Amino acid sequence: MELSEWTIALAAAASVCCCLCLWVRFRRSARGFGRNLCAKIMARTEKPLFRIAYTLYTQTRLGYMYYKRQMRKARQNYPAGHSSTCPAEFNGIKIIPIPVLSDNYSYLIVDTTSSVAVVVDPADPQLVQAILEDQGAMLEAILCTHKHWDHSGGNKGLRRLHSSCPVYGSAADNIPGLTHPLSDKDSVKVGRMHFKALFTPGHTVGHMIYLLDGAAVGAPSSLFSGDLVFLSGCGRMFEGSSTTMLSSLDTVASLNDETLLWPGHEYAEDNLLFAAEVEPRNSARENKYQWVLQRRSQKLCTCPSTIGEEKQYNPFLRSQSAELHLALGVQPLQDEDWTGFRARVLEELRKRKDLFNRR
Ligand SMILES: [Zn+2]
Repeated sequence: MELSEWTIALAAAASVCCCLCLWVRFRRSARGFGRNLCAKIMARTEKPLFRIAYTLYTQTRLGYMYYKRQMRKARQNYPAGHSSTCPAEFNGIKIIPIPVLSDNYSYLIVDTTSSVAVVVDPADPQLVQAILEDQGAMLEAILCTHKHWDHSGGNKGLRRLHSSCPVYGSAADNIPGLTHPLSDKDSVKVGRMHFKALFTPGHTVGHMIYLLDGAAVGAPSSLFSGDLVFLSGCGRMFEGSSTTMLSSLDTVASLNDETLLWPGHEYAEDNLLFAAEVEPRNSARENKYQWVLQRRSQKLCTCPSTIGEEKQYNPFLRSQSAELHLALGVQPLQDEDWTGFRARVLEELRKRKDLFNRR
């Protein structure tokens, strides 16, 4: 989830109100100091305003209205989707990335031998329904990674079309339409598709990722990572500390290198540009960047990558890298344990990426 447009709008509106109030209160003396005062207020109120905007987005109907507006805009701006995607098929298990909104991906996974399907983060129910009909498949499960509307906003709409279809996710995350709460390492089985839910908080308090076991069908496993990990990036730490996020990222890094990564957003180009700032001499990053540039010049989808690849160039999975420590100017403190140090590296990295996004 990116908050930029509406956060800025809300922050700007609140700032204007603040400035007006202060101008009325201090109008006699404000002339000379007005500009400085406003700058100070903006600096001091940025974080609280962001928290207010985030709370409105996640806990009130405003967030839902914003998501619906984004959906209408995306349908106008990208009638054929923001990217071109190709289904991947492994021994009768078909994975179909669905481009939605301006840069999200939902995923439909179909067991073609029994024509049953599972969808991950169905942001646009109409689109998912059209693909289900095209595939002649019956929807048996909705897997939701987290509560942000760009991932969960379609749950209820899709369930209206498939009333017996369960909605899975973490109970900790206030997911719309949730019917089947999951805990860490719970399984969901549909046809020959065996998913394992992994609890990965940090982006939100109840974020979950879903690992489709490839061994059951003689194929590589697939990870549907929501907003935890992207190609060369990771989600913002809206609801968790860097220690919590590091633990969730370590869960991803512990998976088999061959595991395919299917993230929740198309952020590859921007993420690799940022990675170049912190690891300029990383040749795996440069090679991937050139490949991504080629793909994106034709608006082609850049997933999946693999966990093995990500460990080579994704800075958020490389908190152990000495080059990274040097670039960030972060060194271990006396008596600091390795995990605490890596959490500090992650925190600095995330801070730099947030600043990079604002440029
Ligand atoms: Zn999110």
